[in-house]
Amino acid sequence: MGTVMISCPATGAAIPTGIKTERSAFACTPVFFADTYCATCESNHRWFARDAWVEESRPRLEARAA
Ligand SMILES: [Zn+2]
Repeated sequence: MGTVMISCPATGAAIPTGIKTERSAFACTPVFFADTYCATCESNHRWFARDAWVEESRPRLEARAA
């Protein structure tokens, strides 16, 4: 399992969305969008699935997909 991450459009910081999923499952997820609260900007950012990635919680058991 991993956490879906987005990049803050203002600072470029990685923000955890709180959504947990398998990377392989996320890759098959239909296009969607969501709002995630960004503590840096103190506001919500709207993001699309294609802009997000899955950060694995277990370190380096598999090669990161390019
Ligand atoms: Zn932000």
